[in-house]
Amino acid sequence: MFRNTLAFDDVLLVPKRSDIESRREIETLSSMGQTTLSLPVLSSPMDTVTEARMASAMSKAGGMGIVHRYNSLKEQCAIVRDAVKSGAANIGAAVGVTGDYVERALALHGSGAKNICIDVAHGHHSNVETAIKRLKDVFSDTVTVIAGNVATPEGYYDLSSWGADAVRVGIGGGSICSTRIQTGHGVPTLWSVLGCAMERDVIRHGVREDTEGIVPAAIIADGGVKTAGDIVKALAAGADFVMLGSMLAGTTETPGSLMQSTSGKSFKSYRGMASREAQEEWKGVANSLEGVATTVPYKGPVDLVLSDISQNIRSGLSYTGARNIRELQLNREFIIQTSASQVESSTHIMNRDL
Ligand code: IMP
Repeated sequence: MFRNTLAFDDVLLVPKRSDIESRREIETLSSMGQTTLSLPVLSSPMDTVTEARMASAMSKAGGMGIVHRYNSLKEQCAIVRDAVKSGAANIGAAVGVTGDYVERALALHGSGAKNICIDVAHGHHSNVETAIKRLKDVFSDTVTVIAGNVATPEGYYDLSSWGADAVRVGIGGGSICSTRIQTGHGVPTLWSVLGCAMERDVIRHGVREDTEGIVPAAIIADGGVKTAGDIVKALAAGADFVMLGSMLAGTTETPGSLMQSTSGKSFKSYRGMASREAQEEWKGVANSLEGVATTVPYKGPVDLVLSDISQNIRSGLSYTGARNIRELQLNREFIIQTSASQVESSTHIMNRDL
């Protein structure tokens, strides 16, 4: 009747025999549609995460930024052009599923975005089917279409069969998300990724009849990824990419100004796009709140954060003895942690009476 699920902190990866001499032997290439990235990391389409500076820094580090859609068509296109002008080779831009979204997608593509992200909270939806099919009609394969979010293998199967090149997987796990509190719905992101990755294998190998002719979409783990360890777990579970909000929030390249506390500490704003604050700002009124707004400590330039992430992903692969993400997924072994093991897994000297 009730199924058990697991979240990132419930599991660990078991170290495996390795003959990798240096992290330089490891490559972290990953592809979706026409797009290949050397760092499998995307920045979230949120107004406190991705505008021109973040998109260009993400691309320079080998990842990709998805420019948010909470502005006018003109403003969003100007952001994309700015990022492309300052050197972003790979850039994505978000659209919705109503109003001017086809016109927007065309204008964003004209401004240099070769990746269009259909960005809605509940992506397993007939409106998303229409939107994917329309964008595929308009662009055929000249644009990589990302869609989501979904939480289940059925959602992943449907979006793949509708033509999505990549699917954002994760409902309710975001650090600023209150969807599970407000609606009772969601699935731990790790569990969603595991399920969607199994479905990808079923589609890939044509195990069922209804998979014929379907190209399995790339999987983007999205929401609740809070450490480099979680990134490695998400990739090992089957994600081709991870999407990050909170891990990049507070860096120099995020939109918004630096705030100072009375004690002299620096902060930046980070908020869910369904928070009261974000909704009031972009549409004047707020309803059906599913997110919160907060401040996070200032972290400095994002390239330092991304270079740490890149090093940690490489170390992670090397612990499994894997030279690339595919080998990580084939050789990985997950174990479930007890609560005592969870304590042991965190740095724990601070809590000890010495
Ligand atoms: P984080 O990396 O855990 O901070 O989660 C970021 C992700 O949360 C984004 O990529 C979105 O998928 C999701 N998200 C953004 N805004 C909201 C919101 O207001 N409510 C629920 N989820 C959100």
